[in-house]
Amino acid sequence: MKRPRGKGVTMRRGDKGFDAAVLATSFSGRDPGRRPDIYVQANNTADVVAAVKRAREEGQKISLCSGGHSWAQNHLRAGGLLLDLSRLNSIDINAGARTARVGPGCWSVDLDRALKRLGLFFPVAHAPDVCLGGFLLQGGFGWNSRAFGLACESVIGVDVVLADGSQVHASSRENTDLYWAARGAGPGFFGVVTTFHLKLHDRPKVTAMTLQVFPERWLEDVFTWAHEIGPSVARSVEFQILITPKTLFTGKPGVEVLAPVMTNSWADARGDTAFMRQSPLRKRASVSTPLLPLSTMRMSEAAAQTHFPPKMHWCVDNMWTDAPIADLLPGLRRVSETLPPAPSHALWLNWQPDRARPDMAFSMEAGFYFAAYGEWRSALDDARYGNWATDRISEMAHLGKGIQLADENLGRRPARFMSDANRARLEQVRAQYDPDGRFNSYASAS
Ligand SMILES: Cc1cc2nc3c(=O)[nH]c(=O)nc-3n(C[C@H](O)[C@H](O)[C@H](O)COP(=O)(O)OP(=O)(O)OC[C@H]3O[C@@H](n4cnc5c(N)ncnc54)[C@H](O)[C@@H]3O)c2cc1C
Repeated sequence: MKRPRGKGVTMRRGDKGFDAAVLATSFSGRDPGRRPDIYVQANNTADVVAAVKRAREEGQKISLCSGGHSWAQNHLRAGGLLLDLSRLNSIDINAGARTARVGPGCWSVDLDRALKRLGLFFPVAHAPDVCLGGFLLQGGFGWNSRAFGLACESVIGVDVVLADGSQVHASSRENTDLYWAARGAGPGFFGVVTTFHLKLHDRPKVTAMTLQVFPERWLEDVFTWAHEIGPSVARSVEFQILITPKTLFTGKPGVEVLAPVMTNSWADARGDTAFMRQSPLRKRASVSTPLLPLSTMRMSEAAAQTHFPPKMHWCVDNMWTDAPIADLLPGLRRVSETLPPAPSHALWLNWQPDRARPDMAFSMEAGFYFAAYGEWRSALDDARYGNWATDRISEMAHLGKGIQLADENLGRRPARFMSDANRARLEQVRAQYDPDGRFNSYASAS
C-alpha cells in the first residue's frame, strides 16, 4: 500500500478517476466489481461527521475503510457512500502515562517505530501497512499477543462518530456497550472510530527468531510434533508453521517452522526457544538457523516481501481448532498438495489461550489457528485459484470451532466468529446505536 497523499477529496461514480481511486483503497488487487455511489476521503473528524450526515440525508448506506487490508474487500459494496479514513493517521504518545492516541489510518509499522524510540511497545500487526482501524476492531493478533493479549485488550477507549453524526467517547466508564462492541465486532462495527486510545507496554529488550525448513515429505511428522509441544511453548514465542510451495533457502515445497521470540534477556530468549534446538526432527531439516536478533520491523518487512506483496489477487479463509492432530493431518496434506504457486501459503499458529479475556465482543479462539492464503497475480487466474482457500477450509470446517475476523471470508462462506451470546448482544447494541442500519454490517454469502 502507499500512504495517502494530498488533501482528501469527494468523488461521485462517473467522475474521472473514480474507479481507480476506489480500487486503490484495497490491499487486494482483485476487482470485485462492486462500487459505491460516493467516495469520500476524510481529512479530519469534521469531514467524517459531514459525510455521515450526508449519507443520512441522502438515504445512503455507509461502508468504511482505514488501511483497506480486508482480504475480502469488505468496504467495497454495491452503492452507498464509501468513507476512507486513511488520512486520519496521527500518533500522539504520552510516554509518562504510557498511553497513546492514534488515528485509524495509522500504519502498524509507524506506531511500532515511534514507540521503539521510547522503549515502549504495542502489539501491532505483523505486516507494516495494516492499519489500526480494521486491525483493532476485529481483535488484533499482533506481535507478542500471546503474552500481551489481543491488541484490542490494550484499547482503553474509542472516539466514535455515530449514525446520527453525533460524536461520543466509549470506554469502560462511558458508553460501555459501544466500547464492548468496538473490541471484536470488526467489519460489523456500526460507527466510525476516529481515534483509538491505547495502553502501552514496556518494550521487550530482545526480539529474535529461529527457523527450520523441512521438505514436504515430513509434513505429518512436523505437525504431530508441533501439536504435542504447542501447549508447553512459552507465551513469549509465536510458534508457527507455514506450508508453502517455495520454502526459504531451498525454494522447494515444504514447511517452515518459525519461532519469533520477545523477552527481556538473551538467556530467556534462548531458554524459551530451546524446544526448537532440542526437537527430535531437527536433524531432518534442510535448514536450521541459530537464534538471530531481528526487530519486529525487519520481520514485518520480510513477511510483506515474501508473503504479502502488493496488488495480488486474494482468497483467504481460516479456522480455530482444538481437533486432534490425526484428524487434521489429511486436510493439512491436501492444502500442501493443492497450493497455488508462491507466494500462496497456509499458516498454522500455536495460540493456546490460557486466561479469561475481558468482557468484549471478541469471543472466538482455540488452541490452534489455521488459515489458507491463496494469492495470484492476474485476473485471468481468478477462476483457477479464486476458491482454493474457501474449498480447503470448507473441507476441514467440521474440525473447527469457528473463524477469526482478521482473515474473514464471510461473503463466500458463512461461519461463526463470536460466541452465540455475544453475537446476539452485538445485534442488540447495533439496534440501539444504528437503528436505521446506516452502516453496512458483515458481508453475507447470499
Ligand atoms: C498483509 C496482511 C497482514 C495481516 N496481518 C495481520 C496480523 O498480523 N494480525 C491480525 O490480527 N490481522 C492481520 N491482518 C488482517 C487485518 O488486521 C484486517 O484485515 C484488518 O481489518 C485490516 O485493517 P485495515 O484498516 O487495514 O483494513 P480495512 O479493510 O480498511 O478495514 C476492515 C474493515 O474494518 C472496518 N473499519 C475499518 N476502519 C474503521 C473505522 N475507523 N471505524 C469503523 N470501522 C472501521 C470496516 O468495516 C472495514 O471494511 C492482515 C491483513 C493483511 C492484508
